Amino acid sequence: MKILVINAGSSSLKYQLIDMQTEKVVAKGGCERIGIPGSVLKAKGNGNEKTYEKDMPNHKVAIELVLHALKDEGIGVIKSMDEIGAVGHRIVASGEYFKKTTLVTPEVLKTLEEKTFELAPLHNPAAATGLRACMEVMPKTPMALVFDTSFHATMPEKAYLYGIAYEDYKEYGVRRYGAHGTSHKFVSAEAAKYLGKKPEQLKIVTCHLGNGSSISAVDGGKCVDTSMGFTPLAGVLMGTRSGDIDASAVEFLARKKGLNHSEAVIYLNKKCGVAGISGVSSDFRDLDEGAKNGNNRCALALDMFNYQTKKFVGAYAAAMGGLDCIVFTAGIGENSPNVREGVLEGLEFLGVKFDKNENAKRTDGIHEISTKDSKVKVLVIPTNEELVIARETAALL
Ligand code: ADP
Repeated sequence: MKILVINAGSSSLKYQLIDMQTEKVVAKGGCERIGIPGSVLKAKGNGNEKTYEKDMPNHKVAIELVLHALKDEGIGVIKSMDEIGAVGHRIVASGEYFKKTTLVTPEVLKTLEEKTFELAPLHNPAAATGLRACMEVMPKTPMALVFDTSFHATMPEKAYLYGIAYEDYKEYGVRRYGAHGTSHKFVSAEAAKYLGKKPEQLKIVTCHLGNGSSISAVDGGKCVDTSMGFTPLAGVLMGTRSGDIDASAVEFLARKKGLNHSEAVIYLNKKCGVAGISGVSSDFRDLDEGAKNGNNRCALALDMFNYQTKKFVGAYAAAMGGLDCIVFTAGIGENSPNVREGVLEGLEFLGVKFDKNENAKRTDGIHEISTKDSKVKVLVIPTNEELVIARETAALL
């Protein structure tokens, strides 16, 4: 069976077609500028690439074009739509309405649209648009919602509650939900497999460090805490996001800068983080370059990021009462030896010893960067969120 994985944004739609027998990606691509002049689909399949410059006024047209590309000459990988067993849709926020991967029914669609949009106003409406488009174009194919938040549903109350009035949590659902759940789930399971242990035997801290970054404590295969919060603004400072900040400072800043509530949140999401600190870039490659050339604010931004990430590792080791493994993943975690070194340095007291030479090497697949005698194993594991979405979707069927 083949599963189509869809990740729809407001003007974009990324897809992968995964063969579940081999778990290999047989086709992939993305539509950009949906609803904007100059829309384009870049598609790969059969070892070939093709670019479709075609007007895509909405997501329905985009999906139709994707399905056409999946069958098209040169890059086509299927003969008929019947070969697609189901579609898995990535959904950023579930609130408390969905705890796990869910098959789409009219009621499910209603809950998604009526209850969850305000929890992720940029992402969930876009995903729902992609979903509705798929349902129209493939009316007989089962659709599944796979949530970024599901893996965090196992957090205990003491970890996910904020110190606000309990009634307000109950009434408004304001609590920690976390993000990047499919990635934390994937890499923690991969780590257990690599170490030849059952997930139940391991206490793992997973560091998903990318444009958005989150750190999770995974005890016995279950998430027990995570750094992102009610929204993906919380935790460590990120590319352009502030990370954790005293709520009173937000009110103070908004007053000084003449911003209303929404503008203040946009400011914290878009103008802060390492981009705001460095004044140079949100991209860690630029910060590395800047720091190398003597730019102190680039160096400071990197220092802050490493320091804050390290603090989460320490906090989660304490929360779990031990630590067996640290995993680095995503754009920065997989590609930046400097960040990994900055996070790991000084964690010897926890039993972490890492090999600087090994850390500096670039490899494919899982890469062990701890020394042989390190009590805590440190692994670099390429994430694969699409595969998790496909597996969850297939399991649901
Ligand atoms: P997203 O959250 O958008 O999925 P990614 O996980 O793809 O982000 O991570 C993107 C980030 O990874 C980039 O902003 C960049 O800072 C970082 N990155 C990618 N390659 C490198 C590298 N070689 N060295 C340092 N940072 C890198």
